[in-house]
Amino acid sequence: HEPVCECNPCYGGSDCSNLLSDCAANAGSGDPYFLEPFWMQHAASSAILVSGWHRMGYSYSDESYISQLLVEYIKKLHAIVGNAATEGRYIVFGSGSTQLLNAAVHALSPSSSVSPAKVVATAPYYPVYRAQTQFFNSRDFSYEGDTSLWKNSTDSNSRFIEFVTSPNNPDGKLNKGVLKGPNVKTIYDRAYYWPHFTAIPSPADDDLMLFTISKLTGHAGSRFGWAIIKDEAVYQTMLTYLQLNTFGVSRDAQLRALKLLDVVLEGDGKELFQFAYSTLKDRWRRLKQIISESKRFSLQNLSPQYCTFFKRVKDPSPAYAWLKCERQQDKNCYEILEAAGIIGRQGSDYSADNRYLRLSLIRSEDDFEILINKLKNLVPTEKETK
Ligand code: PMP
Repeated sequence: HEPVCECNPCYGGSDCSNLLSDCAANAGSGDPYFLEPFWMQHAASSAILVSGWHRMGYSYSDESYISQLLVEYIKKLHAIVGNAATEGRYIVFGSGSTQLLNAAVHALSPSSSVSPAKVVATAPYYPVYRAQTQFFNSRDFSYEGDTSLWKNSTDSNSRFIEFVTSPNNPDGKLNKGVLKGPNVKTIYDRAYYWPHFTAIPSPADDDLMLFTISKLTGHAGSRFGWAIIKDEAVYQTMLTYLQLNTFGVSRDAQLRALKLLDVVLEGDGKELFQFAYSTLKDRWRRLKQIISESKRFSLQNLSPQYCTFFKRVKDPSPAYAWLKCERQQDKNCYEILEAAGIIGRQGSDYSADNRYLRLSLIRSEDDFEILINKLKNLVPTEKETK
């Protein structure tokens, strides 16, 4: 049996209530444990029990690897939230959106062309785009660095594939594609386009959009994501990729996603989104308060915006803080925070300057409280030494 509960590594004692004094604040990975209290509140309604005989075969009764009921739930959810157009679009599933990143690159690349597609993104960007494209090295596509290198390019023989993350990981900005023209294809990574992390100004209507339950319900370990695709040929090529790669997403993962979305859809999603938004809005407000005392550090600038889902102006509630060390001599922000007992992610991981550091705000409440305490210690230290 797996243990039901574990202490946060910074806590000890039989009931996990003793804070260990020499423990660093973990603000590194984007594990979305901030949603755990919501699921604890809905423990019974979100549970699934799968009998040993259940759905043992490869495919559903329509011979596909995609649950049509789950497709319907996904469309209903997008319609309620108003964050993506799904009418007349095709939907495929992936083992997390991670699997869909390369499926999309593959589908948007010209096949067996003398000129491979140039895959690009704008810094700061999610590092997996580069790492995966380079790892799945192909004659049809190659990673070609930052979009800024190609903005004024006259290269009309090449196809460009631009990754756009909106809201962006790490800085929460609602990015738009930079490259324009008939030879540019864009992959919109919409992992964070939910009312938890951003106001929803209008339904996204891009040619190829990627979503994931990892940041929607917080079930990153289930590995379930989906793509919404306008073009039928692109959809067919992605389907072939997913069929040859894994024969589709685990039926067990699809069943779990179905149950989770069922709970989210109850009461038209208000409960989850309200919980997630107010948690992250409070975290951002508290963090901003501390950093505003400091001249040494700054945060990304995000403004309140009208949200069509909540039908009101919403304060920022980003998944990550993109912290900048402002002093001339503080060239490595990671090391400065590490010395103060805070572990984030280096700017260079996102192809940005190491004066920047990403701090995850979507981890557990314990992790966040430890982070806030360490920051409170760091900021007055600065005042006293002024
Ligand atoms: N895109 C972005 C921008 C992400 O931040 C993440 C997760 N950190 C992913 C994709 C991958 O998510 P998944 O768990 O669905 O593979």
